[in-house]
Amino acid sequence: MMEELEGLRRSAESDLAAARTEDELTHIKTKYLGRKGALTAILRRIGSLGPEERQQLGKKANELKDFLSQQVEAALVRIRQEDRARKLQKEKIDCTLPGRRVAFGHKHPITIVREEICEIFGRLGFTVVEGPEVETDYYNFTALNIPPDHPARDMQDTFYLDNELLLRTHTSPVQVRTMEQMRPPLRILSPGRVYRPDSDVSHTPMFHQVEGLMVDRGVTFADLKGVLTYFVREMFGPETALRFRPSFFPFTEPSAEVDICCVICRGSGCRVCSQTGWLEILGSGMVDPAVFENVGYDAEEFTGFAFGLGIERIAMLKYGIGDIRLFFENDRRFLAQF
Ligand SMILES: [Zn+2]
Repeated sequence: MMEELEGLRRSAESDLAAARTEDELTHIKTKYLGRKGALTAILRRIGSLGPEERQQLGKKANELKDFLSQQVEAALVRIRQEDRARKLQKEKIDCTLPGRRVAFGHKHPITIVREEICEIFGRLGFTVVEGPEVETDYYNFTALNIPPDHPARDMQDTFYLDNELLLRTHTSPVQVRTMEQMRPPLRILSPGRVYRPDSDVSHTPMFHQVEGLMVDRGVTFADLKGVLTYFVREMFGPETALRFRPSFFPFTEPSAEVDICCVICRGSGCRVCSQTGWLEILGSGMVDPAVFENVGYDAEEFTGFAFGLGIERIAMLKYGIGDIRLFFENDRRFLAQF
């Protein structure tokens, strides 16, 4: 029976060492120490032995009972510690890892270029004025010397809302509205959205223009040339060559388009400038006396010049962007470059 007790101890120790969960431990406790457990059975049998044997074995068996109870407690502590360690490992947070940066927004390239244009003309005394994007036929065309059935209306495809209202095709109506309200001298700049039904690599149905107007006594073509030359050199660099090329606009006479030496090939000819070495960047001219008449200015007393340019066009040349549609796709990989 002594050997039986010894075997029981070894077997219980090995079971306890292998226990990994509290459930397993409860099971082992029942197996040896429970009411129907192995040790309990031995203790019962000891009761029927002779006094000497009973005393000797009873002592041994009770020692083993105490020992196993302690071992079960110790195993319980160990299992709980292991559980806790496993849990901590699983939920571990490495606070030395770098965080994810919050992406900062910034100005759209069109905004950057618009502000730069306004800032350059601002130095010459031009102030910004604004007007409605939904215009009347009168302000968009007729007041600008483009009467109904005038062939120049075909130059600008138009989104009509009804017979009278339309989405402005240029920001020139703002000049008319301003002249109706203010007397010369006048130096204004009207940036804003304009609309034409076009869509390809160099046209979008909505794009941005800046138009300028200067009216005073004695304003000449030399002033126009001086102001636009200053602008081009501030925008594209002091060495930028430019030329004035005769053109036609219904609201200016004479009219000129301004070309700059190609910023891509520096004048030697490339795809962007169609091998000419020049890039058209704006239209301009002396305000037609008929426009002054429409707003009640005396064309004998006042003269003026006007000019208009596309902000997208300037931004494309400045940043070397080949497709105008990129500005409006809101692809952050594109926008993040500016
Ligand atoms: Zn070129």
